[in-house]
Amino acid sequence: MAGLAAARQVQAAGHTVTVLDKSRGVGGRLATRRIGDAVLDHGAQFFTVRGDSFSGLVDEAAKAGAVAEWCRGFGEEDGYARWRGDAGMTSLAKWMAQPLDVQLANHVHAISVGSDGVRVVDATGTTLALGNHAIVTAPIPQILTMFGHGDVAPGSSLEQSLRATSYFATLALLAVVNGPTNVAEPGGMQFETGPFTFIADNQRKGISPVQALTFHAAHEYSLRRYDDDDETVHGELLAMAAPWLGEATVVESQLKKWRYAGPVKPLTNRTEVIAAGAHTIALAGDAFGGPKIEGAFNSGQAAADAVAAAIAD
Ligand SMILES: Cc1cc2nc3c(=O)[nH]c(=O)nc-3n(C[C@H](O)[C@H](O)[C@H](O)COP(=O)(O)OP(=O)(O)OC[C@H]3O[C@@H](n4cnc5c(N)ncnc54)[C@H](O)[C@@H]3O)c2cc1C
Repeated sequence: MAGLAAARQVQAAGHTVTVLDKSRGVGGRLATRRIGDAVLDHGAQFFTVRGDSFSGLVDEAAKAGAVAEWCRGFGEEDGYARWRGDAGMTSLAKWMAQPLDVQLANHVHAISVGSDGVRVVDATGTTLALGNHAIVTAPIPQILTMFGHGDVAPGSSLEQSLRATSYFATLALLAVVNGPTNVAEPGGMQFETGPFTFIADNQRKGISPVQALTFHAAHEYSLRRYDDDDETVHGELLAMAAPWLGEATVVESQLKKWRYAGPVKPLTNRTEVIAAGAHTIALAGDAFGGPKIEGAFNSGQAAADAVAAAIAD
């Protein structure tokens, strides 16, 4: 989200932008997976809208059919819209990416700054992109790895803050089911305590033609079990899910792991800028803008503003 928001804004200002992503699809943590006929969101489950800028984007996306309102609250309605992607959360990212030059399956290994610009290379040393400026929006530990393999030094105080930023993990159980479950209306349940933070029925959410549930394990459990044997953890999650599975039969299930699910404590500024002469590197993502889709969007826009200011200088 941060990268797409930044790229759209920089491109709209008349500059040439290339978006690189290591994955085979756009969206990062806006992630939708298919298991047979089932469609399941396994990262972010929904989004809310607070600021004008994000609201403008969501209005446009809704008109284009990329997003739709899911509900107005889980458990009790509170009047605030919870949005979903039309065919899963990636629908929003795919729609945002339409006007952009996005190059997928490009894993950035190193970033360096020279007199000719900011150079981004893969693990074989092949240049993936060379530009005057770069906006880097991976989770912070991955940004630091790219800098470490290259020659970008954020400066000691920023580097200290970046190194101090930790993320909570999330283990997700994806289950294609058949039969009546105990997942309450509107097909989404949010919890402050207990084994899960969120449970979604992707069919009632409106994205899956067949019954399919997503369970997000609590942060403490996810961190504690993250590196344990996948098969054991998968079985444990199925047992933990039993009270909500009710009478339904699990047809197929998968475990999905998010090592960097969200920042424990976001940084103070929406973006940070590392300047090296005529070349600027701006950092963005939910660790800067806040641990939500709108936070990532705001951060991407702030990074685009920072680059625009550097270009104007
Ligand atoms: C399980 C879960 C549930 C969530 N639920 C919600 C929710 O209900 N509502 C909500 O608002 N938010 C939710 N969030 C948070 C929300 O998804 C994030 O805040 C937001 O999507 C982060 O966007 P981002 O652009 O900062 O990062 P990301 O989405 O992580 O994007 C970073 C991108 O960088 C790419 N990348 C990383 N390293 C490299 C590299 N070396 N080379 C090339 N590309 C690279 C990745 O492939 C990825 O596409 C949830 C997150 C998770 C994981």
